[in-house]
Amino acid sequence: MTIDTPNGNITPFYEIKDTTWGGRSCFATSDIPKDTVILEVNDTTGSSIQYEFRKEVCHNCFKYNGKSMKYKIKTTDVEGLLSENNKWLKARMKKFCGAGLWFCSTGCSDTYLRIPRIIDLIEAYEILLDNHTKMLKRNNPDDANEEKLNSVKISQSIIDSEWRNIEINWLPMIDKMKYTKRQQSLPITSEDEYNCARFVCNTLFHLRTYTKDTETGKSFWNLQSNELNKMMRFPILLHFQQLVFRTLYILLPETLRIDFNIGTFRHIMGSEYGNAFGIWQEDESVDSREYFGYWVFPRASYFNHSCIPNITKTRNNKTMYFTLNKGVSQGDELCIDYSGVLDFTTVKRRDFLKENWFFDCQCTRCKLEI
Ligand SMILES: [Zn+2]
Ligand SMILES: [Zn+2]
Repeated sequence: MTIDTPNGNITPFYEIKDTTWGGRSCFATSDIPKDTVILEVNDTTGSSIQYEFRKEVCHNCFKYNGKSMKYKIKTTDVEGLLSENNKWLKARMKKFCGAGLWFCSTGCSDTYLRIPRIIDLIEAYEILLDNHTKMLKRNNPDDANEEKLNSVKISQSIIDSEWRNIEINWLPMIDKMKYTKRQQSLPITSEDEYNCARFVCNTLFHLRTYTKDTETGKSFWNLQSNELNKMMRFPILLHFQQLVFRTLYILLPETLRIDFNIGTFRHIMGSEYGNAFGIWQEDESVDSREYFGYWVFPRASYFNHSCIPNITKTRNNKTMYFTLNKGVSQGDELCIDYSGVLDFTTVKRRDFLKENWFFDCQCTRCKLEI
């Protein structure tokens, strides 16, 4: 695969071009028969398993059988991987809890442990788990405040000024503190913040591999941020993001904090909104399959949506496949379905797309139906 984004070829099957109607899209470079896999990706820059499935889904292959997974990472596994840099974990090995990682088999945990420098991510996860366990004993003041937090006014300048406030006032204050004092400045967080903090760690970890000179890294930094749209719809997210940011700023181990700053954090969060793919249960009918979480594949983020998509997305293990569900001609636009609501009525379906992906669908089917 030779690629030159933002515009160029990711696979021989299609090219990414600017459209006449705004934005970019993927167009077939030749006539391609039905059932051709036109893109296969396993280079996620970040994934997250929902809190309620954290023990029931394998963190390596995403297998699910409705029960808790049997295997966790053992202290002895971790000891062999520790390096000089993992100071926190080294000091805490006796209390190691498994970093919140569960696996379907020893084969899966072994594969996971073989990921280069995975110990850095395990350390970050373990720190977050330790903090989360402490937080569980405290009441989250935001629970009662939710309505209030969701009614604040949001604009780009409000978002920017809130972050400037963190940068100018909060960061220097924390930087001056000793380690133990910093712990006292940790915000109270709940499951949602914990899970989101894990997603950000996962992304920071992968971005060390997918640097800006790799195709995946380049595509990641090119992803559109939907920060403003998403926050206008859910104003509480601004507050939520800042809780996650503050938690990570205090807790992140050295190995992952090198590239951690407000700009990176905002791009990780903002690009996830509207660009993440769902991690769905395999081999189940569309109506009954479970939603385990989400992951980001920047190289697969150039497809536009259509309510009569010519591409079907499937997952096998850690790989996503984009397969033609009909033959296409050279120059045809290649589209996926973002929503999973193709059976909805026209109005309901278009509202759903507008609310979640912030656009008025202009696909052939919508044009015909309206
Ligand atoms: Zn597994
Ligand atoms: Zn449509």
